[in-house]
Amino acid sequence: MVVIVGSGAGGGILAMELALANIPVTIVEKGPFINVNDAFNCYDEFDEPIDLLKTTCLGGSTVVAAGNGVRVLEKELNNLGINISNELDEVEKLLSIHPMNDNCFGEGTRKIMDVANDLDLDVKKMPKFIRDNECIPCGHCSFGCLQNAKWSSIDFVRIAIDNGAKLLCNSEVVDIVIEDNKVKGVRVRKNHKDEDFKDGNFRDEDCKDESFKDEDFNTLIESDLVILAAGAIDSAILLQKIGIKAGEKLFIDSFVTIGGKLKNINFNKEIQMNALIKGRNFILSPHYAQFIANELKKEATDKKDILGIMIKIPDDNYGKIKDGKVIKENSIKDVRFIAEGSAIAGAILIEAGVDPNSIISTNLRGAHPGGTAAIGEIVNENLESEINGLFVSDASVLPKSPGAPPILTILALSKRLSKYIINNCSG
Ligand SMILES: Cc1cc2nc3c(=O)[nH]c(=O)nc-3n(C[C@H](O)[C@H](O)[C@H](O)COP(=O)(O)OP(=O)(O)OC[C@H]3O[C@@H](n4cnc5c(N)ncnc54)[C@H](O)[C@@H]3O)c2cc1C
Repeated sequence: MVVIVGSGAGGGILAMELALANIPVTIVEKGPFINVNDAFNCYDEFDEPIDLLKTTCLGGSTVVAAGNGVRVLEKELNNLGINISNELDEVEKLLSIHPMNDNCFGEGTRKIMDVANDLDLDVKKMPKFIRDNECIPCGHCSFGCLQNAKWSSIDFVRIAIDNGAKLLCNSEVVDIVIEDNKVKGVRVRKNHKDEDFKDGNFRDEDCKDESFKDEDFNTLIESDLVILAAGAIDSAILLQKIGIKAGEKLFIDSFVTIGGKLKNINFNKEIQMNALIKGRNFILSPHYAQFIANELKKEATDKKDILGIMIKIPDDNYGKIKDGKVIKENSIKDVRFIAEGSAIAGAILIEAGVDPNSIISTNLRGAHPGGTAAIGEIVNENLESEINGLFVSDASVLPKSPGAPPILTILALSKRLSKYIINNCSG
């Protein structure tokens, strides 16, 4: 039996692929069962110095994703001897990656794209995993989709369950058990009662294991094949507990959103990040930030009167995880890249009609933590750690900051790992 820790981008697809290959799988998920439109309740809290966005729930951060599906780090992984071209093709197909229909583009996004084109910038429609015919643009992607029109890892977990996988929600892996340098299982703590998180979309029994009682504190789930997919922060914390030097580096794809006043643009109701503008050292994308709305509200600006652009960079991996806490510093290069992107984003906004005196910025934030157990450093090219049978398959293993949406690459790496396990470890 394979134990998969976490049901987000890295874990969900592994569970599905292994279950489809008739390999017994148990998914252990720290967060609750949720309806995707409740995802905004599941954002984690972080200490003041870092503004990191991630969620703890079934599906992980995929449930709050903006639906952007781009290929990243293909070349860098190739340089490490890992060719994921086929797997990227396969996941693009699975998620039906496509630019959305013209009628899915609102006035704010169009204005930004037109101006960027006039300025001779590299502009295109963002490739998306949103189903056009089910989407009613509402600007809520990052709170969870109100119409369930967007792919999330929950879709794959569902298929895994239908093919025999076992799912334990509200169940946190707190330790990894090792004997003679081989993995033997995980220790699991129950966080809440399942009854607190009933969800009509799943059958009750899907999220329960009869042998696993609510009062159990430290249940051992035995397995000689464990895959950590708990995300870059939590996988690193678990690896550190067993003495592996993970979490000494961390990137977050740092970003800011700048925005200002443009009367009646109604951009807050548009599909977010529906265009991609590539700069030398950054990407730009139309983006409405609640932070800007809150700040401009103090000057009596309504949220329908705001236009904004996100500036995202491939940050240096000057972060770490120490004593369970996230520490992140920015290099002087990071500051330069953010400044370069902000200058161009500001020029676009002003040309699009935004009042220059109203333009403000969010704090520096991150939503793509990764690189804490990088390939070639903490795991090998098959994503196995120095402990036999202990694999890592999530954003932790990415070799560097992509500075762009990483889900497709995480999915492709996990799909590749599923093939390796099916071919080499299932006998
Ligand atoms: C607001 C927002 C929008 C985004 N939009 C996009 C986008 O449009 N496109 C894109 O490519 N990327 C996007 N991202 C980034 C993307 O969601 C993440 O990079 C990706 O989900 C990371 O995958 P992962 O498997 O590493 O972690 P996750 O998807 O976060 O999954 C980790 C899972 O492990 C669980 N877990 C944690 N600790 C434990 C434990 N000890 N025991 C058991 N379970 C545990 C968590 O609850 C979670 O379910 C976005 C992120 C955010 C926050």
